[in-house]
Amino acid sequence: MPIRATLWSAVDRNTEIKSLFRDELAAQLDRLREPAYRADQVLQWIYEKQAGSFEEMTNLSAALREKLMDSFELDAVHALKTRNATDTTEKFLFQLHDHSLIETVLIPATPGLTSSSDRHTVCVSTQVGCAFGCTFCASGLEGVKRNLNAAEIVDQVLHVQKLSGEKVNNIVVMGMGEPLANYDNLMRALRILNAPWGLGIGARKITVSTVGLVPRIKQLAEEPMQLRLAVSLHGATDDVRERIMPVNKKYPLKELLAACDYYVNTKKRMMTFEYILIAGINDSLEQAQKLGMIAKRLRAKVNLIPYNPVEGMLWRRPERDRCKMFQHILKQHGIASTLRMEKGTDINAACGQLRLQHEKPD
Ligand code: SAH
Repeated sequence: MPIRATLWSAVDRNTEIKSLFRDELAAQLDRLREPAYRADQVLQWIYEKQAGSFEEMTNLSAALREKLMDSFELDAVHALKTRNATDTTEKFLFQLHDHSLIETVLIPATPGLTSSSDRHTVCVSTQVGCAFGCTFCASGLEGVKRNLNAAEIVDQVLHVQKLSGEKVNNIVVMGMGEPLANYDNLMRALRILNAPWGLGIGARKITVSTVGLVPRIKQLAEEPMQLRLAVSLHGATDDVRERIMPVNKKYPLKELLAACDYYVNTKKRMMTFEYILIAGINDSLEQAQKLGMIAKRLRAKVNLIPYNPVEGMLWRRPERDRCKMFQHILKQHGIASTLRMEKGTDINAACGQLRLQHEKPD
């Protein structure tokens, strides 16, 4: 369903207001000769009342609204399309000011990511495209175009909340791009989403998923925020993992698992491994056993995700029985796992697919 197609001007952008921390906004308002408490009023309009324009901020004087309009950008993303899948997963295609396209998904309940079913999870993107070229993923087909800034990450959540009317209480950074390759913007956005003056989403309700950038996992372990870590493993030996994830050449399993160890021990928190099941590629019972051993050593949970076919790629998901058998072997190792029969298959919820269709309609 097209909402509105506007082409934004990429030039002459003011400061993105949704990239700012509270003290930074207060400092900027001070320069505009406004008292510090105005920052709280503005933030309330943005994050609590979800104002769609500075014009709506009616408890601010007309003169101040004018100044805000001249100094800041309010919207960093612009909804082009939403699509509903039959299972209520809702997918959004957003346009950025330079006309780039990104995708965001609203998932009402995701067994396996957290326990409660009364959750509204948003899956956010962090880059336009992706540089890592995992062979099963649509996001990396055309490489990476650029990093998202913090406002573009924050605004995906705000827009999904507004368009869906659902209060978001869970975030998974599993959309397009590699979040840890855009570390500073990611952390800034997550701090804003977590802040009491921002969206107030608990750090424990935020999961960052990575292809396994070893130095960044260590850096993340040292952050004060208690974020959840998910690592996309997808292969339990170097030969299998390397075949589907080129990043494994740079950070082989030994180094990756040492970084995971460091994260788990520094944070004193459980982590998760994601494991896509692709028929004949990484679904052997031997891989299941090796994965069981890895997860046991790290006391990690495993999310098994049957491969979601991507157009133009020949792979397929294993039969259901094979997936169950794989899961059973993990159980024998004492590993808790979920077998996530992918939600939203009928709207191409696998990363990057909606964007590709939009860019290359057939
Ligand atoms: N770069 C990060 C985050 C984006 S991908 C990372 O690699 O973790 C996040 C997840 O998307 C992957 O772990 C995988 O679970 C899922 N994914 C990507 N392509 C998929 C496909 N074709 N089928 C099923 N899941 C897919």
